[in-house]
Amino acid sequence: MDTFSGHINKLIEELSALPGIGSKSAQRLAFHLVNQPEENVERLANVILQARRNVKYCRQCHTLTDSELCPICSNPARDQRTIMVVENTRDLAAYEKTGKYGGVYHVLHGAISPMLGIGPNDIKLKELMSRLQGEVDETIIATNSSLEGETTAMYISKLIKPTGIKVTRIASGVPVGGDLEYIDEVTLLRALEGRVEL
Ligand code: ZN
Repeated sequence: MDTFSGHINKLIEELSALPGIGSKSAQRLAFHLVNQPEENVERLANVILQARRNVKYCRQCHTLTDSELCPICSNPARDQRTIMVVENTRDLAAYEKTGKYGGVYHVLHGAISPMLGIGPNDIKLKELMSRLQGEVDETIIATNSSLEGETTAMYISKLIKPTGIKVTRIASGVPVGGDLEYIDEVTLLRALEGRVEL
């Protein structure tokens, strides 16, 4: 038995498919949206559509951006010889928020997880290795401290070691299983400054 009409149900269903939105939040958002002036909803729908159509991966670091090269990669003030490897764009944003990291990034878009069937070829690892053929002084591995993050860190360090490029891992103290995104800036900076060579 449906409590609401087809359109409302459909909207609630779509919204609750979004990450972090439970059925209660989906209902609240749906009711809010249908009560808004039509032009507001149209604007929101357009912003979503335009973002989806225009955002792509940076050709160097693979973060999400509007242009070929993201603002970080194309900034001449950034140290191109220090690459921080992160799992996703949210982690990159967390480090950027500290304002204290002057190098560039490499976004893997995932982590190795044998349990979920995610292997080295399913993340942007080949792309990282080809970047390391250029002039690079240090690769900082800043994957999460979850089992997948640690597995990925170990795998990457084994790949890089033979190249002679310095490989470091951010200090633990970042809570196990903790998403980098939710860790405060002071903790992130401490983890970065306390990084150890692998
Ligand atoms: Zn980039």
